[in-house]
Amino acid sequence: EPDPTLRPESLPEDFDRALRPQMLGDFIGQAEARANLSVFIQSARQRHEAMDHTLFHGPPGLGKTTLAQIMARELGVGFRMTSGPVLAKAGDLAAILTNLEARDVLFIDEIHRLSPVVEEVLYPALEDFELDLVIGEGPAARTVRIELQPFTLVGATTRLGLLTTPLRDRFGIPTRLEFYTVPELHEIVKRNAQKLGVEADPDGALEIARRARGTPRIAGRLLRRVVDFAVVEGGGHLTRALADNALTRLGVDKLGLDGADRRYLRLIAENYGGGPVGIETISAALSESRDALEEVIEPFLLQQGLIQRTPRGRMLAQKGWTHLGLAAPRQPGQ
Ligand code: ADP
Repeated sequence: EPDPTLRPESLPEDFDRALRPQMLGDFIGQAEARANLSVFIQSARQRHEAMDHTLFHGPPGLGKTTLAQIMARELGVGFRMTSGPVLAKAGDLAAILTNLEARDVLFIDEIHRLSPVVEEVLYPALEDFELDLVIGEGPAARTVRIELQPFTLVGATTRLGLLTTPLRDRFGIPTRLEFYTVPELHEIVKRNAQKLGVEADPDGALEIARRARGTPRIAGRLLRRVVDFAVVEGGGHLTRALADNALTRLGVDKLGLDGADRRYLRLIAENYGGGPVGIETISAALSESRDALEEVIEPFLLQQGLIQRTPRGRMLAQKGWTHLGLAAPRQPGQ
């Protein structure tokens, strides 16, 4: 008889949204960022001012959107959300900005993908809460200045290096999000299991946390898949052995690497003798975009010490060879 607390049909549709922490106090990890934000939020509230513009940068799934929403909630203001590629024309941004209410949070995801014309409109808005709009065309064109309500821009990017310097300089609070530790992810998985009404052994939750690539979004996704296995094959019980078996069948290895990660490592090991090999070459060989490699795959491999980035290209580190179960070729001088 399956455990009645495990009902897959009761899992919410919008899984990401259902699991999002609502307030700063429910947000696990990123201790430094959280402590600083809490001060800036409290100060803005006491002064009845818009909080300073904030930039979150770091790999996908670490909580940038979640923190932006939490900021608005803690500040007691409205939240508007858009993204760099969606804002094609200056008028798109102007329409959003002129509709903001005093002290609102405007979240722009993928802010490194704003077009230059839209970025130009954004500068005076950020500095002086003013918009300079060109009305009409040709000789009849004229510029009108529109006053905006003071607001807080929260930008998110996976690629800090692609932000223009003037845009970067306009954020008073740049905040880097880090990969989560296993104990932090363990806590997140346990809470998510609870939110989903799933009974998970602490060891079962720990196995998911260990293999979540330091990323809460991946932890949430893996938990959902492991719950599927628990329901169908585990009598509803999420144990360590069941999680281990399910994750292995999903192609997630002991370090949390998936098939794409291992293909990347094996390519450097087997085709390029461990490197160095250029990112463009890797991109062509794997048919993966360079952006995807740099934003999604490489940060965790670098953080784990599996690869190194050198001026001449990517190299497999000793730990990478060991993880693949291969012997590293002898290096000169060793
Ligand atoms: P990003 O914007 O950085 O890509 P999100 O904010 O969308 O990441 O977070 C992805 C998922 O991970 C969401 O479901 C969110 O609830 C969850 N999440 C992120 N950070 C945390 C955290 N600190 N604690 C619990 N869940 C988190």
